[in-house]
Amino acid sequence: MLYKMYINGEWHKGNGEEQNVVSPVNGEVIGQIPLGTAEDVDLAVKAADASKHLIENMTVFERAEILNQIADAVSKRQQELAELLTREHGKPITEALGEVATTAQAFREAGEQIKWMNSEIIPTRDKNKRAFAYRRPKGVYGVISPWNFPLGSASTYYIAPGLAAGNAIVWVPATSTSAVASEFMKCVEETDLPKGILNLVIGRGPVAGDALVVHERTSAIGFTGSTKTGEIIHSRAGAKSVLLELGGNGPTIVFEDADIEHAATSLVDASFVNAGQICTSTERVLVHESVADGFAEALMERIENIKLGDPFDETTVMGPVHNANTAETVADHVKDAVIKGAKVLSKTCGQEWPTEMYVEPVIVDYVTKEMKLNTEETFGPIIPIVRYKDKDELIELIESSPYRLSSAVFSRNTEKALKFAESLKFGFVHINEASNYWETQIPAGGTAGSASGYGRSGGRASIEEMSEVCTVILSMTGENKDE
Ligand code: NAP
Repeated sequence: MLYKMYINGEWHKGNGEEQNVVSPVNGEVIGQIPLGTAEDVDLAVKAADASKHLIENMTVFERAEILNQIADAVSKRQQELAELLTREHGKPITEALGEVATTAQAFREAGEQIKWMNSEIIPTRDKNKRAFAYRRPKGVYGVISPWNFPLGSASTYYIAPGLAAGNAIVWVPATSTSAVASEFMKCVEETDLPKGILNLVIGRGPVAGDALVVHERTSAIGFTGSTKTGEIIHSRAGAKSVLLELGGNGPTIVFEDADIEHAATSLVDASFVNAGQICTSTERVLVHESVADGFAEALMERIENIKLGDPFDETTVMGPVHNANTAETVADHVKDAVIKGAKVLSKTCGQEWPTEMYVEPVIVDYVTKEMKLNTEETFGPIIPIVRYKDKDELIELIESSPYRLSSAVFSRNTEKALKFAESLKFGFVHINEASNYWETQIPAGGTAGSASGYGRSGGRASIEEMSEVCTVILSMTGENKDE
């Protein structure tokens, strides 16, 4: 089966070659995707540009109605979409069902949110002036999304809020999760969304994604992905509005007065969700040396519950990682740590797996500052323990990684934890909760100037990022003018 692009309300095979979609679950070919070219992007952007007035001129209530239709269509196909998501991505079916439910929720919530975002009247010094600030769409929005939450992140961060704000969108998803993106567009096709408002171009990032970034008629780009690609996009986008949601590397900090059992339970529950392929995942745990042994033991007791296996089995906690690159990065980071003196605590079960993408959950102790596990993003199923002795060393460790996305602090002294959280220059900080806890209405994003990008996504924050303020100033004249 060929999973097609959707441009101007029609299904396209594109102008390029085709590529097999290979499942990480068992190596099976589950279909083909077209590899779109700059010409396909041009077609989609021009369609979006020609239709953008249709959504811009809708009332927010009309937009909300259409967003609800998309949500209904997604909910109706929840099982079908989740099965394809698991097959194409590798995540457990239980998580895939959750991701599809979140996708539907994203459209409902954006529809709700936009209805209650009032415009402003700005007070003026001159009593004969009236200044009104209206929120208006940015125009044609280019969206480039990653493979880790192919539907959830694209919808929550960009597509749902972008449509709510009145933009026309051209979406280039990660090549390796384009089949499920194409199936999602069947839900959109069923609704009253006018043709050309939401377009899907399937193709490789450096080809189709790049063509979208540089196209003269895209006015804004929303990108979620790696820091390296984010930097390329930033330099290619020129003066366009760019929202960059990039990588992360924790940290999670466990103070000497933390509830160790609670911290261990939270981290084991959270670190292996989506096989650790989450930008806000635990990545590295900085533990005070006085409690590190007990903490490591508590993690080890719990890791046995992380069942790796067939993602279609509902009792499986972790399926395969998405691609060979991720499996290699985990192996490389562990090897680097072991060569430099770290100790792998977890045992491998020695089972034979259908593909090389089945990576067992790993706990590594005695990780130090210079190791890749501390400085780089691993993006896999791993909990590295870095022991620190005092506050100075803790700060040095925090600063030894360039990422500033999400972090977590565990302490029984919540005032102390709050004060420390306030001093951390991260996009968001969790207290007594794992760093990847998130609800779709909570603003998420990196600290400007760091490797984690800038801008905020989630709920109202996304709508604000995907729109801009237009101010109209009216001058009273004649008999309406006050002297
Ligand atoms: P990636 O390699 O940067 O790819 C992301 C997207 O960019 C893909 O669609 C990719 O296309 C495309 N792309 C690649 N090169 C491009 C170029 N030159 N121009 C335009 N587009 C280009 O990242 P990934 O491996 O898919 O995703 C994992 C990364 O995303 C991690 O670093 C993770 O932390 C980050 N992430 C961040 C957040 C957040 O909210 N901050 C959320 C999720 C993930 P192809 O698929 O064809 O390569």
